[in-house]
Amino acid sequence: MRTLKELDPHSKRVLVRVDYNVPLQEGRVRDDTRIRASLPTLERLLTGGASLVLMSHLGRPKGVDPAFSLAPVAQALEGLLGRPVRFVPSLPSSEATREAVAGLAAGEVALLENVRFEPGEKKNDPELARAYARLGDAFVLDAFGSAHREHASVVGVARELPSYAGLLMEKEVKALGRLLHHPERPFWVVLGGAKVSDKIGVIESLLPRVDGMAIGGAMAFTFLKAAGGRVGASLVEDDKLELALRLLERARELDKPLLLPSDVVAARAIREDAETRVVPADAVPEGWMGLDIGPATREAFASALAGARTVFWNGPMGVFETPPFDTGTLAVAEALAALEAYTVVGGGDSVAAVRRLGYADRFSHVSTGGGASLEFLERGTLPGIEALGGLSPEEVAP
Ligand code: ADP
Ligand code: MG
Repeated sequence: MRTLKELDPHSKRVLVRVDYNVPLQEGRVRDDTRIRASLPTLERLLTGGASLVLMSHLGRPKGVDPAFSLAPVAQALEGLLGRPVRFVPSLPSSEATREAVAGLAAGEVALLENVRFEPGEKKNDPELARAYARLGDAFVLDAFGSAHREHASVVGVARELPSYAGLLMEKEVKALGRLLHHPERPFWVVLGGAKVSDKIGVIESLLPRVDGMAIGGAMAFTFLKAAGGRVGASLVEDDKLELALRLLERARELDKPLLLPSDVVAARAIREDAETRVVPADAVPEGWMGLDIGPATREAFASALAGARTVFWNGPMGVFETPPFDTGTLAVAEALAALEAYTVVGGGDSVAAVRRLGYADRFSHVSTGGGASLEFLERGTLPGIEALGGLSPEEVAP
């Protein structure tokens, strides 16, 4: 993968794809984590004498929609970077945008409007990629959280310009690569969240590499039901039962412990004041939903993880947005934060839980990518990495 070491940014206009897909609230940035994560790359390029044209997506707009404008991000970035940021409101591929960035002097920064306002962005339209490429002399991909997307602003444009990985991209690939290629053992994976279908690929490909897996969250119920349990009204993917059974068998064949909840906190509604019961995970009463792992499971997961030297965690253990169903997720965060181990957390909701506890700096690596980190662990590479030349054997196993 080509990196910034190979780019002399002096007097160049550098087009940088960042991941500024941040949550907004009343027209302001609610969480600037992803903006902060881009600063090292931006500062490196600016110190080297470049001018910058930044582009990102935000949310899932259907066409041009002011609710998804990056204008609030320009404001937040200006504060964090400590220099003016010129927001360019026209469509990124338009003549107006090209004119707006043509006059940038060294040290100046422009942020383009949401690339997903462009109909060709998600289709990786080559015409659009060429229009982006005309905005800079070189391209830097630093949007790790989008690097699994075959979109025009990620991979298309990378093929049209001399292109390099930014510092965040490098850091993520190094941290996640360590899990894949030389994890200190025992290596455990903790998975939760809503859908098994999102995480099947990663379960299949990681099973042979890990020493054990613990599965909580709603996805556990698909496994529990597949194994013959009664899950009441819990969230289940009925079309994934066979697959879940196959994964359970695969774990047995490989002799890898795959821990499922033994007890769960159940309720009849997802509400803070709902009546709750702790019930066996395979005997959830009719009309009740398992909404968090129970106390015995919290203990069991924590003691399985206690001896681990490497842990990857993705996905909350319950409906963590609604207390008291956040207890299991907070317990896992707590257990991992206390470990003397290489700990990596990825995924929007699990990272939010870690931050809420103020534990981010007690993890070895907090990934800025949810889907991207899972896909990287599944396949060992990403479309964005391939577009930058792919990983050499030395990068894979340094
Ligand atoms: P991440 O963003 O960390 O990758 P996901 O997006 O896969 O995680 O899943 C997060 C969602 O899963 C949360 O909205 C959470 O409420 C939901 N969830 C977790 N456990 C349960 C459960 N037992 N029942 C219903 N929803 C659940
Ligand atoms: Mg999520």
